[in-house]
Amino acid sequence: VYVFEDRPSTIMEAFEKTVQNYPEREAIVWNNQRITYLELQKQVHQLASWMTEYGSIKKNDRVALLLGNRPEFIQMFLACAYLGVIVVPLNVRSSKKELLNMIEKAGASMLCAEGDYAEVVEVWQASHPTNSVIMTNEVPLNKPYTLFDHIFEAESSISAYPHIREEDPLYIMFTSGTTGEPKGAVGSHVNVIHSVLNYSQVFQAAEPIRTLIAVPLFHVTGLVGQMFYMIISGGTNVLLKRRYQTGPYLDLIEREKITFLFNVPTIYIMMMSHEEFTSFDLSSIEIMAFGGAPMSPETITALMKALPKSRLHNAYGATETTSPAAIMPRDYPLDKTASVGKAVPTGEFKVIAETGEELPAGEIGELYIKGPMIVHEYWQNQEAVQRSFDQGYWKSGDMAKIDGDGFLYIMDRKKDIINRGGEKVFSAEVENILYGHPDVMEAAIIGVPDDIFGEEVKAYIVPKEGKNPSPSAIQTYMKEHVADYKVPKKIEIIDFLPRNPGGKILKTKLLQLEKQT
Ligand code: ATP
Repeated sequence: VYVFEDRPSTIMEAFEKTVQNYPEREAIVWNNQRITYLELQKQVHQLASWMTEYGSIKKNDRVALLLGNRPEFIQMFLACAYLGVIVVPLNVRSSKKELLNMIEKAGASMLCAEGDYAEVVEVWQASHPTNSVIMTNEVPLNKPYTLFDHIFEAESSISAYPHIREEDPLYIMFTSGTTGEPKGAVGSHVNVIHSVLNYSQVFQAAEPIRTLIAVPLFHVTGLVGQMFYMIISGGTNVLLKRRYQTGPYLDLIEREKITFLFNVPTIYIMMMSHEEFTSFDLSSIEIMAFGGAPMSPETITALMKALPKSRLHNAYGATETTSPAAIMPRDYPLDKTASVGKAVPTGEFKVIAETGEELPAGEIGELYIKGPMIVHEYWQNQEAVQRSFDQGYWKSGDMAKIDGDGFLYIMDRKKDIINRGGEKVFSAEVENILYGHPDVMEAAIIGVPDDIFGEEVKAYIVPKEGKNPSPSAIQTYMKEHVADYKVPKKIEIIDFLPRNPGGKILKTKLLQLEKQT
């Protein structure tokens, strides 16, 4: 496998180099704040110093982030990287129960949160009274939580950082598992550095790069494909003031002269459907990357037509591949548009048949991926590691083929997930929760086509005898247990689920049923 030889070993080394080379460049732009690399470096030292001195945090401890896309997310991530502390960036859309479960699983010794999640923080602190919490500034809580402003007032007293090896863990990113229990992919310093170098070698973007982040920083696309890409290459991370809204997003591209976008297809669809789309000056955009979910050929054509001067790059990857495994090269032939691109410089693919043998070019099988950007473990879950990895290859669960020119095509999925605008919903997880409803006898969920999100969650439910649950009651129940995007948008009550003679639910039949309606 190819590895980048001349590379920084740790995030600290990479970041320090950027600060040295570009001290006055903007690292973060958010709201009315413009933070240069030099200023960011100071904040990182201040946070690291506070965590060590007052938070009693040391190498390999876990610190969970309950933060949206805001400067504190980046500041904390870097401070933890300096200390060898493992960051747990939580999906803030999760339910309270899911969040508390992930925080416990990671064994976090500290929480860093914004005001919206004060309730979760309180519950957690009640059972961990000696652990510390840092909150964002705008929360006037009469609780003993430290605020960021307070930390940034004090000088750093740290004189030396612990020694960190390149393979040391940097973060734990939870993904849902087939069993319904979240499993934490452990990303290392060297995973992230290789991923960023892969992007930068394939994109060859004009520097300095300015990106506007719409996707969450708690997933790899935002975290690695944007945030760390900028941190390592001296680019600028422009963050949205609040949650994504198309108007302000387009406006910021124009005002901040954004050169690089990396979004799930849903965002591009929303951009092009905005009524004032053509009145914005988007000419600064050099690169539009997309990934996380397939983009329809119609959307690709429309996007190329709408912004003909920008380059469009499909990027295929997963949490386990630390973002990209394949990227569409520059100036690819148009007849390859349906492909997700070629293996990244450090990536190696195998296509495996059900029998376990490797398949030749052109044949469809499960895609296995290898390389120095692949994670090696799930947090304290050896069983999941054994199931998901094979001799250094990660088994993607995606059915794919590779053509004679090395272009990769994702054809189908082996794993039973629904891809809702890039957020993955494991069917088994949602079904398990549905089974917990007192009126539900049987449940199955499928993905149904959606113009904006690609797929939407639909549940088929067989009620218990004499029961007649309303779809809205089931939705209310689901909202208490799972993240909003996992709640079935459509619910159909039926008499029985189609099954094969072995008793297995036939989802293909449900999909056919759906097509007929
Ligand atoms: P993010 O969560 O940051 O969006 P991601 O989608 O790459 O990153 P996961 O949530 O782990 O990571 O999902 C990975 C799965 O998403 C892949 O196994 C594949 O099924 C699907 N996927 C990712 N990128 C693409 C793409 N470009 N085209 C089609 N499917 C994709």
